[in-house]
Amino acid sequence: MGEIDEGVMQGYLLLADISGYTTFLTGTELEHSHAIVTELTKLIRATLTPPMQFVKLEGDAVFCFAPQAAFPNGELLVELAESCYFDFTNRLLNMTRSTRCTCDACRAIGGLDLKFVVHNGTFIVDRDEDGRLDLAGPDVILVHRLLKNTIIEAGGPSSYGFFTDPCLTGASTELRLPVHEESIESFPQVTGVVQDLAAVAAQRREAQVVRLTDDNADFVSSYIVDAPPAVCWQYYVEPGKRHRHVEAVETGVEFTPNTEGRVATGASSHCAHGVGGDGLREYLDWRPYEYFTCRLSPVEAEGVEFFTFVECLETYEFIDLGDGRTEHRWLLRTVDRTPEGIRAFEESSAFIREISTHPTWGDQMRRPIAEDAVLYGLDRPVS
Ligand SMILES: [Zn+2]
Repeated sequence: MGEIDEGVMQGYLLLADISGYTTFLTGTELEHSHAIVTELTKLIRATLTPPMQFVKLEGDAVFCFAPQAAFPNGELLVELAESCYFDFTNRLLNMTRSTRCTCDACRAIGGLDLKFVVHNGTFIVDRDEDGRLDLAGPDVILVHRLLKNTIIEAGGPSSYGFFTDPCLTGASTELRLPVHEESIESFPQVTGVVQDLAAVAAQRREAQVVRLTDDNADFVSSYIVDAPPAVCWQYYVEPGKRHRHVEAVETGVEFTPNTEGRVATGASSHCAHGVGGDGLREYLDWRPYEYFTCRLSPVEAEGVEFFTFVECLETYEFIDLGDGRTEHRWLLRTVDRTPEGIRAFEESSAFIREISTHPTWGDQMRRPIAEDAVLYGLDRPVS
């Protein structure tokens, strides 16, 4: 960071603020919420790379700036916020699916959100006694004050980027976003535009269809569950439900019934927030109740054994059989298509091939659903 000149500068000021942990958390839940926010702020920092410069963490917010010349037009910053938000939502899905914990902090992962406030102005770049970067000036105060705004109460989106007018000088006329005005005490009226980041992320996922088929998958497994897709789906994506079937898969061929104690005790030590567990998943295509596809990258983590050590694509399908049952299909395709890559996949997936041909394969999903059947009005024997 030594290349940053100190002194007065014209440029962009950006705050990326994580919201969602509004309830008061204590003990383990406080630890977990802290770990979750730490992972997410790391991800945000990794996305907002140079020429964006990190200044500091402020609670659940990441504060960055960039000199004017770094972004010839503010449109690039809109795109940067969109990409960052997309990665953020991917990570949320990944965390939701990898946590083994059912505490309030871990359950709330899916409800976390991210917003951006971006302004352009003049500020002083300074360093404190320890050499840490800091910014000062009225525009720095303004961008912080803008975090508390009226966008949502004015009917705007909850996951947004707010870009003040000075940010968009030089932007193309194609960028037509809803205008928003904000009154901040001791500052002139602020006008800017609002981008609905959740809508953009949803469009991106809509636009890309990534779904493995029998023809291009290297491995396919399947079983039928006596419940509709919307129920089965939950046991794949919701913490607290997911871990009840995942633990059975990971412990191997012997699908012993889950006991309450097995998941309740030591839950915190099993809490893997995102990285860890069985790898890092990037969600490429997400169609609730029907299928989702992710890229699974194994991540080396202490004490974690993977059923596969190679990068692959996975599609999870929930096929509605039309009679209240679902055929659950899991398709895998290794990314490395060389003969060596395919051989490595064959070897590393031997374990999962073995258990998925076991007669009780599928019970890991059927059992928790059967236990919860009354919740769904499915209180009939589950095969
Ligand atoms: Zn937790």
